[in-house]
Amino acid sequence: MSDKNKPETLAAQALGQIDPETGALVPPIHVSTTFARLPDYSLVDGRSYIRDHGPTQEQVESVLCELEGGADAISFSSGLAACTAAFHALNAGDHVLVSDTIYHGVLSWLKQFAGARGLEYAFFATGNIEQFEDLIRPNQTKLVWLETPANPTWAITDIAAFCEVAHRHDVYVAVDSTCATPVLSQPIKLGADLVCHSATKYLNGHSDVLAGMLVTAKKDVMWERIRQHRLLAGSTLGSLEAFLLMRGMRTLFVRVHKQCENAMALAQFLEAHHAVEKVHYPGLASDPGHQVACRQMSGGFGGMLSILVSGDRQYAIATACKAKVFKRATSLGGVESVLEHRKTSEGDLTNTPENLIRISVGIEHVDDLLGDLKQMLDGG
Ligand SMILES: *Cc1c(COP(=O)(O)O)cnc(C)c1O
Repeated sequence: MSDKNKPETLAAQALGQIDPETGALVPPIHVSTTFARLPDYSLVDGRSYIRDHGPTQEQVESVLCELEGGADAISFSSGLAACTAAFHALNAGDHVLVSDTIYHGVLSWLKQFAGARGLEYAFFATGNIEQFEDLIRPNQTKLVWLETPANPTWAITDIAAFCEVAHRHDVYVAVDSTCATPVLSQPIKLGADLVCHSATKYLNGHSDVLAGMLVTAKKDVMWERIRQHRLLAGSTLGSLEAFLLMRGMRTLFVRVHKQCENAMALAQFLEAHHAVEKVHYPGLASDPGHQVACRQMSGGFGGMLSILVSGDRQYAIATACKAKVFKRATSLGGVESVLEHRKTSEGDLTNTPENLIRISVGIEHVDDLLGDLKQMLDGG
């Protein structure tokens, strides 16, 4: 298939690969953990053992690599296995700068394990490029970790601007793009070195697979160390999960576009509601990230939003308890809408407000979602 095809086509057809042996449109799931050597003792396509790489994993990796415009991609057993592989690839004594609004699991790993790994780290206020530059330690700061839109306020970081400053100081830029997906932005095209996904979320989209992905802009030393880390820590994605993930990714574009459309309608409704103090959604003109989001996202602003309800923790939880169409559950990016009192999931580690409800918007009919939010909030 010509690589001039549009990303929607590449995703729907999984790059158009057809099984050469059988003509199967859907490639078989390769469950074998080991691969036979040829009579001259050479390996077929370099494959020896599944912990390093297998054909079903390679298929889904090649599709994401293409969608992100990267040089290579590898899959992991979870999103956090992918995120933390980037930190594990660093050396003791290296310094890392981290945006202070990020997925709480990454924060927990840093707080509990970065010290033991000999890594030093510091936080800068999300999006604050001056503070970021001030914190860079010459020859010691090796990596900056960004997430945009960022959990749970969907704060936007200007990827291109951060890359410009970071690269001037030889700092490697990693972007957790779980919530943007390659449908809405491609960090590598904006200068990022590494893109991370919890594929559990939008890439799979059906709340039934745990998986992670990393995509690199170039096959450099850092990438080789990341690959080695996955091989030796053993955080490889299983073949059945890789197959399911590939099936989910075929519909990525239609799902994400519908989720963006629904989320925008809900955000506008919520912004006008008296029981809502604030709506965090980069698609709203009132959102501080809106201008940058318009520049670096295309086709929508994502399916995630958060609201601060006019009340305390009890009131927020009581509001969540009234949901009928929305399911009360953590996680995000599935076809079904879920909401949660975010502080309950994150615990004391973060400074997420007690009155914040996080909403992952699915692909249901928007009227059902609007109706549910209305009955939840109107009661007072
Ligand atoms: C869920 C999530 C992760 C962690 O992914 P898992 O697949 O749950 O391990 C990392 N980053 C972001 C932004 C996430 O939403």
